[in-house]
Amino acid sequence: MGFLSKLFAPARGPKSQTGYVKREGKGAIWIYVQCDKCGEKIPVRLRTTSELQRREGPDAELGPGMFFVKKTVVGSKCYQRIEVAVEFDAKYDVVESKVTKGKLITYQDYRQNNEQ
Ligand SMILES: [Zn+2]
Repeated sequence: MGFLSKLFAPARGPKSQTGYVKREGKGAIWIYVQCDKCGEKIPVRLRTTSELQRREGPDAELGPGMFFVKKTVVGSKCYQRIEVAVEFDAKYDVVESKVTKGKLITYQDYRQNNEQ
């Protein structure tokens, strides 16, 4: 984040990170995770209606996003269980992510790997 954007960003509320989510119509989005054990890049499809949970009621203050998901991802090259917790804004851009035993990568990173 540059100096100017920092200056003009609201004091409260995280900034969305674009490029991590690919939308599939209205019903689903894709995020991309890389396993830190074998390096596999794994696409993860999330149904917006059932897998993304809206932060409302008692959940509203527990995270910065408008939607969130918690999911365990296992690739096809090894059996490592990657724990993914992502917060999304209203447009399903990533606001915050926490990934153990792996990391969240952008769609571009995912595609680059597959084309090599
Ligand atoms: Zn792996």
